[in-house]
Amino acid sequence: MSKRAEKPWNRKNGRDAASIAAAADRAWDYVVVGSGMGGMTTAAMLSKLGRRVLVLEQHYVPGGFTHTFARKGWEWDVGVHAVGEVSEHSLPGRLLAKLTDGRLQWEKLGEVYDEFHWPDGLRIDFPDSPTQFRANLLEAFPDEGDAIDAYLAAVRRVAKAMRKYYLARTVPRAVAPLADRFLAGDAGKYFMQTTKEVIESITENKKLQAVFAAQWGYYGSVPSRSSFAIQALVVKHFQWGAWYPVGGSGSVAKELLTTVAESGGWTRICADVEEILIEGGRAVGVRLTGGEEIRAGAVVSAAGIQSTAKRLLPPSYREQAWASEVTSLRPASAHVCLYLGFEGDIRDTGASGANKWFYDTWDMEDDVWEVDARCADPTHEVPPAKVLYCSFPSLKDPEHEPGQRRLHTGEVVTFVPWELFEGWRDAKWRRRGEEYDTLKQRLQDRLLEQFLERIPGLRDRVEYVELSTPVSTDHFCRPMAGSIYGIEPTPERFRNPDLRPRSRIKGLFFSGSEVATVGVMGAMMGGVLAATSAEPVRAFKYLKALG
Ligand SMILES: Cc1cc2nc3c(=O)[nH]c(=O)nc-3n(C[C@H](O)[C@H](O)[C@H](O)COP(=O)(O)OP(=O)(O)OC[C@H]3O[C@@H](n4cnc5c(N)ncnc54)[C@H](O)[C@@H]3O)c2cc1C
Repeated sequence: MSKRAEKPWNRKNGRDAASIAAAADRAWDYVVVGSGMGGMTTAAMLSKLGRRVLVLEQHYVPGGFTHTFARKGWEWDVGVHAVGEVSEHSLPGRLLAKLTDGRLQWEKLGEVYDEFHWPDGLRIDFPDSPTQFRANLLEAFPDEGDAIDAYLAAVRRVAKAMRKYYLARTVPRAVAPLADRFLAGDAGKYFMQTTKEVIESITENKKLQAVFAAQWGYYGSVPSRSSFAIQALVVKHFQWGAWYPVGGSGSVAKELLTTVAESGGWTRICADVEEILIEGGRAVGVRLTGGEEIRAGAVVSAAGIQSTAKRLLPPSYREQAWASEVTSLRPASAHVCLYLGFEGDIRDTGASGANKWFYDTWDMEDDVWEVDARCADPTHEVPPAKVLYCSFPSLKDPEHEPGQRRLHTGEVVTFVPWELFEGWRDAKWRRRGEEYDTLKQRLQDRLLEQFLERIPGLRDRVEYVELSTPVSTDHFCRPMAGSIYGIEPTPERFRNPDLRPRSRIKGLFFSGSEVATVGVMGAMMGGVLAATSAEPVRAFKYLKALG
């Protein structure tokens, strides 16, 4: 069978003429809007619960931020560098294995998953065990043992409170305020404090404060704005290290969507949902751009709650107070990514499966690269970025075939202001005009140079370079304001009563990272919460078996 024939998606409502006819005969139980990790998880779980699901994805590749793209023999992921809690020791890992019947495999990044390189040459490795993590912090800050222990204890307290928090998110809306207060109370307290408040209450050592918060890039919100709970969740998420999907991050969509197809469901790509259809106060299906209507028993929007409230609800619903509250929340930062293709083995240059964070600052409030419109002017010097996050996907994937040319890949990510790019949002991909191209080229050159100064051995091996900007992210994945992680995980976000799987509209559920927490596994948990809210009896039975 050819690779193309194996794909459990296409541009139609089914695999073949017979299944398309069957789909027309029998309404779908659920339509899921968006095939990111959240949407795919909901769809796979509902399929496992015996429901027939149609997933609709606007892009020509499914997967949302787990999708991959290829150029001239190289292939890159767009939003998966390090994922924790995927082993059988974690509930999310066991669940993901069950949803894919064990087909989705993960490879550990190594004993160290993140290397931090600080301005004065200090390097601190984040390892795959809590004991080693404490030891590494203590080695770098020998006088700060009490602060390190207090910090790790606070992280553990939040982690413990999370199960109840998730449970509270699934209850019917009528009892949600009570559940939020009594079930999620412990976690709720931490969601309301900022990372900065908690960290500053633990230590006055500015460098240790920076090291505690150094992974803020994994949730896109600096310490003064982020909720401490999200910081703690990231630490807990990676306490046993990080993994990468075997076969590349495209395997995630392939395996989850195979589960959907095996239960009589399907995934349709290039299916751009224009509006969710609401009749008599109930969501009954969707209308695609072009006018086609698809009906279903219920609708799950996994396109982001904010995006749904602003773009997909009928106009009269968009104006409701709850929708305005959701849309007023600030999205997390936008980013640029340098996609690099190398020829020749790259391991001897220092590249490895571990991600490298290069910080040019100890100030974790330096949130975005200070670039502006002047950077398009060749006489203006583009400043260096304050932080580079570097990943080498080909070294993470045991199935990567370097071939005779010994092809390898690299990615360099840093945050940028969305406002600099948003003017080009409506321009056509690859035809955004000279000013955009010049700006992009200059940022690309500057970032590449900065990266090569850090890993000079790679200079001769770079054969391909391409920069994505926030409007590329908008074009392919459509988050609000090109955001890397959706709504910023601030205390305000967690206070909002509508970021939960049951919407205020009958028959409409929300899925994805904005329902739960950021990242691949956060989105997956959002997907589980959506399926559980839609089918509580079947879902609780299914989940009970996991322990
Ligand atoms: C550069 C980068 C690096 C990252 N690194 C990591 C990492 O190392 N580890 C980690 O855990 N997380 C990482 N993340 C974050 C993680 O990938 C995301 O948080 C997660 O995948 C989001 O999943 P989601 O389902 O919530 O949303 P998305 O993946 O954004 O899915 C939403 C989907 O809805 C579709 N859609 C939107 N509107 C419509 C419409 N009208 N009609 C049809 N379809 C529509 C979109 O095209 C998209 O496919 C990274 C993200 C980025 C961008």
